[in-house]
Amino acid sequence: MAGNKGNKSYLPQKNCATCGKPFTWRKKWEKSWAEVKYCSDRCRNSNKGNAGQQGK
Ligand SMILES: [Zn+2]
Repeated sequence: MAGNKGNKSYLPQKNCATCGKPFTWRKKWEKSWAEVKYCSDRCRNSNKGNAGQQGK
């Protein structure tokens, strides 16, 4: 058995839908990770408020 160098567990990442920066899985998202699209509440709110009123 090869020893594990550093025991850092892999964490998934996503790109924020607002700022486009990658962010890493957090404990608070463990139940909703599939639905997380933004790196922070700030980005989420920003995106929400900035929803352009594009006609159909
Ligand atoms: Zn963001």
